[in-house]
Amino acid sequence: MVDRQGRMIDYMRISVTDRCNFRCRYCIPPGGAPCIRTGGAPLEYGEILQIVRAALELGICHFRVTGGEPFVRPGLTGFLREIKELPGVETLSVTTNGSLLEGRLEELREIGIYSLNISLDTLDPDRFEWLTGKRELEKVLAAIRQAAEMGFPHLKINCVPLEGWNEDELCGLAALAREYPLDVRFIELMPLGAGTVWRRVPQSRVEERLEEQYGPLLAEKEETREGRGPAVYCRPAGFQGKIGFISAISHEFCESCSRIRLLSDGTLKPCLNGPGRVKLGEMIRRGAGTEELKEAMRAVIFEKPARHGFEEIKGIAAGEEWACGGEEGCFMSSIGG
Ligand code: SAM
Ligand code: SF4
Repeated sequence: MVDRQGRMIDYMRISVTDRCNFRCRYCIPPGGAPCIRTGGAPLEYGEILQIVRAALELGICHFRVTGGEPFVRPGLTGFLREIKELPGVETLSVTTNGSLLEGRLEELREIGIYSLNISLDTLDPDRFEWLTGKRELEKVLAAIRQAAEMGFPHLKINCVPLEGWNEDELCGLAALAREYPLDVRFIELMPLGAGTVWRRVPQSRVEERLEEQYGPLLAEKEETREGRGPAVYCRPAGFQGKIGFISAISHEFCESCSRIRLLSDGTLKPCLNGPGRVKLGEMIRRGAGTEELKEAMRAVIFEKPARHGFEEIKGIAAGEEWACGGEEGCFMSSIGG
């Protein structure tokens, strides 16, 4: 469907859990993120499917499952299969930290996952452990290698450059796209929840570092069926895959945003960081049917904010309260990225 700004909204990110086996320091705050804030259980898979069916009737046809870490939730692959089989679903993709993929990649490919995104911020085992709380870099790298060797379609590595932390590794991380047929994307840190205590590395600085090492970054077109993504791509000479940049702050892409987000408690958020939301989970539990869900979704999607307004967040966590733009549920681990 089209929103008030005239944007075509056809892409839904679905967070199936706000729990995670990692504790990435820019995503989850030291004491842990408040899980399932409503105090209730996360939506059942059947309830999510009900929302997906309503979304399909509104013309939303691209879906990405995320978390927290989606693979900590039991039964995920069966759920993915069920979504994929719904008539009208054009693409179904997954974002994961890659640590729980062992033994699952064949099944994911067989289900027909369109694109697999694996997050990776460092190639150093000690740094990895410091950042995530787990000594599991090798597991993640093994999953990346296996997926690449299987020729997993649209395989992407997501890296968040953090000032003074992994800036010296950006060329090494980018080199994964030279070594394997996959894309490496640099995502600008967003000032949300635990991310507010870190400093982002702007796209221009990442580009400079890569050009010093690999020469000119020649612009590339993205060939994708998965909605109109926010990434811009280039390819240094000799690379098999592309380098992408997703820069919500320095190269804002709100004007062409096509996505909405379903949180694991059933809240539909039309913007990563903006007003407007509807608690579809509560509606389902009150007995709402597809028509009622559709109406509620239509209203909130139509009013999707024009811009994310990140600059209005003052930055650092204030005392005990995290700066969240005045919103509840503002941690990436509950929104799903
Ligand atoms: N656990 C999965 C993973 O790590 O890919 C899926 C959920 S995670 C919240 C999705 C993406 O959000 C990851 O690539 C992560 O790096 C990114 N992310 C988390 N906090 C962020 C922030 N403050 N700014 C930008 N990206 C962030
Ligand atoms: Fe977990 Fe992903 Fe957040 Fe890391 S970025 S803590 S893996 S949800």
